[in-house]
Amino acid sequence: MKTISLSCDSAALWTSYVDEAYVREVRAYVSRVIAPEADQIDRDDVYPVAIMKDLAKQGYSAVALDAALGGRGLTYRHAVAVCEEVAVASAAVGVSLITIFQAQTMIRLFGAESLKQRYLPAIAGGLLCSYALTEANHGSDIRTLDTKARLEDGQWVVKGEKHFITSGSAAEFFIILAETEKGVSVFAVPRNARGVSTYEGTNSATFGLRNGPHMNIVFDNVRLPADHLIGEEGKGVRQAVVVLNHSRTLAGAISLGIARAAFEGALSFARDRVAFDKRVLEFQGIQWYFAEMLTDIDAARLLIYRAAEALDNQEQMARWGSEAKLKAGTVATAVAAQAAQICGAYGIMENAPFGRYLRDAKAYEVAGGSNEILKNTIVKFLLPVSGLKAGK
Ligand SMILES: Cc1cc2nc3c(=O)[nH]c(=O)nc-3n(C[C@H](O)[C@H](O)[C@H](O)COP(=O)(O)OP(=O)(O)OC[C@H]3O[C@@H](n4cnc5c(N)ncnc54)[C@H](O)[C@@H]3O)c2cc1C
Repeated sequence: MKTISLSCDSAALWTSYVDEAYVREVRAYVSRVIAPEADQIDRDDVYPVAIMKDLAKQGYSAVALDAALGGRGLTYRHAVAVCEEVAVASAAVGVSLITIFQAQTMIRLFGAESLKQRYLPAIAGGLLCSYALTEANHGSDIRTLDTKARLEDGQWVVKGEKHFITSGSAAEFFIILAETEKGVSVFAVPRNARGVSTYEGTNSATFGLRNGPHMNIVFDNVRLPADHLIGEEGKGVRQAVVVLNHSRTLAGAISLGIARAAFEGALSFARDRVAFDKRVLEFQGIQWYFAEMLTDIDAARLLIYRAAEALDNQEQMARWGSEAKLKAGTVATAVAAQAAQICGAYGIMENAPFGRYLRDAKAYEVAGGSNEILKNTIVKFLLPVSGLKAGK
C-alpha cells in the first residue's frame, strides 16, 4: 500500500506572534517528543503521563505562571504558541495541557495564599489536573448542581459525581464545583483524598480529544480542609466562567493546531499526487481550496493572538476568548474535512491522520464551551451597544 508522505516545509507560512526562537524551540520539542506518539495516544485512548510530566519539566505547562511559583513568567501569547504547536502534533496532549492550565488559573486567581503555595509549584512541577464542572444532569447550565458540599467541624464534606472529565483517568488533583448553602462554589480536591474514586461510565469514551476516557469522578463524603474552598462561597459559577474565559483562548489554539496539521498534510499530498498527468496541487480548483483554508486559518490565528493579548492586558477576555474559540473551532472542523477531501481515498484511510483531525476538531466545538454558549457570551457584548437589554 502506498503510504502518504505528510512532510512539507510549510512552517514558514505561520508567522510567529511571539519571539521566534521560543517557537522554534517548542516546534523542535514537539516533533521530537510528541509527534511520534500522537497516533498511538489517539488509537489507545490513553493519558500521555510521561509526556505531560516531561512537558512540565520543560516549563511548558506553567508558561504564564510567575517564576516565584514555579512557572516561566512569560506571556499568555507564549502559552498560546505552546498550545498551537503541541496540537499540530496531538490535540490529545493539547487538551491535557488545558486541564492543567485551568486548575492552575483557578488557584492563582482565587485561591487562598496557603493553597497557592501548596499547589501552584506542584502543578508547575507536573501534578496532573482535571477541571470538573459537568454532571449527568448539568452541562452548559451549572447554576445548580447535584454535587453538594457542607461545612462540618471546620471541614468541607463533598458528596456527588462529575461526568465527562477530561484527563480524569490520570489526574492527581481536581478542581470541582459543588453546591453549598450559599450556592455553587469551587473546591480543590486531591485525588488521594479518602472517598474519591473514578470509573469509566457508559459515556466516557469519546470519538475525539482521546487523552484517556473522560471519566466519572465520585466524591463519597470527601473531607477537605477549610482552605480548599477556592474564592468566595456561592460565587463558583462566576469564578468558573472567569477561568473558562482564560482557557478558551488556549482551547482555540488547540483547534488552530489541528487546522494547521490538516492543511499541511493535504498540501504535501496534493504536491506529490499525480492525476491527469499533473500534480493535484496544479489544479486551480484545488489551489482555491488551499487559498480559502489559508485565509480561514490566518483569520483564526489573528483572532487567537488578539485574544491572548487581551489576556495579557486583562481586558474583554470573555469576548475575545469566546470569539477565538468559536472561530478556530469551526475553522478546524471545516479544514479537516476539506483536507481529507483533497487527499481522495488516501484521506479517508485509517492510516491517514485526517480522521483524527476531524474527530478532535469536532469534539472541541462542544468541550470547554459549546459554539452556542460562546455565541451567547459574544452577544452580551453586542446588546449594550445596540440599546437592547439581555433577554429581550
Ligand atoms: C470531549 C469532551 C470533553 C469534556 N471535558 C470536560 C471536562 O474536562 N470537564 C467538564 O466539566 N466537562 C467536560 N465536558 C462536558 C462539556 O463541558 C459539556 O458537554 C458542555 O458543557 C455541554 O453540556 P452538555 O453536553 O450537557 O449539553 P447541554 O447543556 O445539555 O446542551 C445540549 C445542546 O444545547 C445547546 N445549548 C445549551 N444551552 C443553550 C443556550 N442557552 N442557548 C443555545 N444553545 C444551548 C448546547 O450548546 C448543546 O448543543 C466535556 C465534553 C466533551 C465532549
